[in-house]
Amino acid sequence: PRLRALCLRNARHTLPAQSQRRQINHFVSQNPPTADQPPPSQPQTTFTLAVKDNITTVSPLPTTTCASPFLASHASPFQATIVTQLQSFGAQLVAKTNLDEFGMGSHSTHSAHGPVAQSLGGSPYSAGGSSGGSAVAVANEEVDLALGTDTGGSVRLPAAYCGVVGYKPSYGMLSRHGVVPYANSLDTVGLLARTVGRIRELVVERGLWKVWDGRDPTSLGEATRRRCAEGREGCNGEKGRGLEGVRLGLPVEYNIEELEGRVKDAWVEAAGRLEERGAKVVPVSLPTTRHALSAYYVIALAEASSNLAKYDGVSRGQGFGEEVKRRILLGSYTLSSEAMDNYFLKAQAVRRLVRRDFDRVFRLENPLQDEQEVFDLSEMSDDIPMESKLGPAEVDFLLCPTAPTLAPKLEDVMSGQGVLDAYMNDVFTVPASLAGLPAVSVPMPVEGEERMAGLQLIGQYWDDAKLLGVAEAVS
Ligand code: GLN
Repeated sequence: PRLRALCLRNARHTLPAQSQRRQINHFVSQNPPTADQPPPSQPQTTFTLAVKDNITTVSPLPTTTCASPFLASHASPFQATIVTQLQSFGAQLVAKTNLDEFGMGSHSTHSAHGPVAQSLGGSPYSAGGSSGGSAVAVANEEVDLALGTDTGGSVRLPAAYCGVVGYKPSYGMLSRHGVVPYANSLDTVGLLARTVGRIRELVVERGLWKVWDGRDPTSLGEATRRRCAEGREGCNGEKGRGLEGVRLGLPVEYNIEELEGRVKDAWVEAAGRLEERGAKVVPVSLPTTRHALSAYYVIALAEASSNLAKYDGVSRGQGFGEEVKRRILLGSYTLSSEAMDNYFLKAQAVRRLVRRDFDRVFRLENPLQDEQEVFDLSEMSDDIPMESKLGPAEVDFLLCPTAPTLAPKLEDVMSGQGVLDAYMNDVFTVPASLAGLPAVSVPMPVEGEERMAGLQLIGQYWDDAKLLGVAEAVS
């Protein structure tokens, strides 16, 4: 049976014809799996892996271009920890995937390799971004698993557009050593697959979530990991227990004008179905939501401008694409002395409020809650005791769409859609990024539509194991 399973698996991984590949343009470099058995040194339970091209790999795919003209032939001397970890579990690296340059974008169109497309009914649609190449590779069943990066939604948005599962871990949980930074205080490495189960197996059952990496300064230390895991049901690899008794919150502020009617209908319907299956669904309020997007685009761009300053010299004007140049200019401006107070510092204040909104509604406390902040608040109001989580216990997870619309046609994105429209796609994904919370997008069918939408579940900090368990039950 093992051999049969292997043959079936390999049969599924036949790559699309060359012409179709060029059209969808999701791979930057490839090392296709052979139809033979894996080499004897490989564990028996192998799976194929594609890696976003802003995550470093070594042989057999030595270049990491970040889809930037600057790094067109860059070969990293070392490999990202997360890739090595997955290889130790049996991953066969078969491709590096196309993306928005340095992860900056929402449609995977700002790439030195040209835009990524997903083909639906023979027409090219946006694959979402910036991990669009990874999402397409998974959706096309060319790989079992793909790595992406999620700074403000870049794993969840393409997963939603392409009808696959995309998981963004708690900030600091999975190693970012070897992941080229975009905005350090927000960057995470994320996983895409066709089922939640595959992701849960690697992260929870095989213990990736536990591993501290001393080479990644943002990787949470061991003592803090232990403290964070306290009270996190399911964190010891226990499988999710279905939906009975799980409280899901629908954030009322996510019902925005830009939310497409059929995506909203699908969301409401999904909530109803989950209620029938034993979940308790309640409305919750996250009042700072409407400021989160602006705050994100101030903070992310400020950090990006500082990160990219190392690519200096006379070729700076030529080495970056348009979108990256725009972001460096905006980011440098918000950090300049005359704009700092009005933009960067305000955005940091909004970020704290976004986190506080989440802490108010979740049943669990945020283990990283700033004690000073609780103290300041308790000074202001007698209702807030010192150890308070800042609000009544309301929900275990939040349930909302991943993006306000379905995947647009690629030509509309390339021709008509303005910069602000593209930024707007991130409206439902950036709040969890600003707060460092885990979130997962699972495919959500839309009535009368071939395209899928994404249903997003957001959990309290470090509640990843239970989040993935519930997402598995939901999908
Ligand atoms: N679309 C968002 C941006 O352009 C998110 C990108 C990301 O998560 N890497 O910043």
